[in-house]
Amino acid sequence: MSITPLMPVYPRCGVRPVRGEHCHLISEDGTRYLDFASGIAVNLLGHSNEHLIGAIQRQAATLMHVSNLYGSPQGEKVAQRLVDLTFADTVFFTNSGAEAVECAIKTARAYHQSVGNLDKYELITFNNAFHGRTMATISASNQEKMHKGFLPLLPGFKYAPFDDLAAAEALIGPNTAGFLVEPIQGEGGVRDASPEFLAGLRALADKHDLMLIFDEVQCGVARTGTFYAYEQYGVVPDILATAKGIGGGFPVGACLATEKAARGMVAGTHGSTYGGNPLAMAAAEAVLDVVANDEFLAQVKATGERLRSRLEQFIGNYPDMFELVRGRGLMLGLKLRIEPRAFVAHLRDNHQLLTVAAGDTTLRILPPLVIDDSHIDEFMEKLSAGAASFEATEPAA
Ligand SMILES: *Cc1c(COP(=O)(O)O)cnc(C)c1O
Repeated sequence: MSITPLMPVYPRCGVRPVRGEHCHLISEDGTRYLDFASGIAVNLLGHSNEHLIGAIQRQAATLMHVSNLYGSPQGEKVAQRLVDLTFADTVFFTNSGAEAVECAIKTARAYHQSVGNLDKYELITFNNAFHGRTMATISASNQEKMHKGFLPLLPGFKYAPFDDLAAAEALIGPNTAGFLVEPIQGEGGVRDASPEFLAGLRALADKHDLMLIFDEVQCGVARTGTFYAYEQYGVVPDILATAKGIGGGFPVGACLATEKAARGMVAGTHGSTYGGNPLAMAAAEAVLDVVANDEFLAQVKATGERLRSRLEQFIGNYPDMFELVRGRGLMLGLKLRIEPRAFVAHLRDNHQLLTVAAGDTTLRILPPLVIDDSHIDEFMEKLSAGAASFEATEPAA
């Protein structure tokens, strides 16, 4: 037997974290890492937040799970908070981002079918998007590396270049149901859409009665300095998928929709055994307690600006390695002139700094939202030492 007990679908690195302390991770061998990856934008409150831990512990001891066949005071409370905080009128809870996007796709199709547009099932999505790993969500991305081995894809998706409004408009046809887009692409390389692009999609959706779906699984939940990124654009979607940070480390996702968009999502049409169970709702509620207020959001924005300006000052020292800084709030990307995976590994193995590689030759910087200036200092020291030692060992071509 040569296959590992853990199905070998991840190229796992040698770091084996066993404990978390605020913004640091401690590995099996006792090494301490600065965590500016946050489990890919998940651990918003760091690793040992007492409010989150207490909420989960109390709920676990009270009631962990009941079926969605019963009434859910816990779910109603979190759904009401999300409705109050956003454009949405209604919320479906999931256990992951991909399931939240799946629900968004089904909601868009069901809208059209419920108004009698039986031909409108196709979503226009964007190149280098990442929407998850289920069959529908890989079909929603043009990235062939995610398709290989899993063909045939699900029908009903067309791809346009990201941030190209004319190309998106040109794809609208009799089968178009809507658009599915990340306002800020995460996996794709921390690329933020232009305001004109998102506003243009909104106008096209209004004109042709299409559903505008935002995938805010990575950029949502305070990450960019507003509760959701769409608020910064002043463009309101019909449907929004959220996950990653919303449970602070507990698996929680949600599909948010307006009343109009959700008109096809009636009793019996969709479901999830675990989705929104009391334990998940306790975690989400604890995260919302901390992040969903103006003071916290302003702090994320200010911290993000300080980190960004430090990065911008710094990259000029290594013009052969770094091209530019992009992103919003504490969702930042460093576009490199070197291979991101090699540099991420170098920072991790030689400087105990955790970051994440992304598409478009970009290194993602996704710290917990609770970092302070001491963490920014530590990050800049490690990055600076890492750039110097990387250049010394692997001079740029
Ligand atoms: C991570 C991610 C997903 C998928 O979330 P999972 O929880 O891994 O299923 C979907 N969309 C975006 C934008 C993501 O970053």
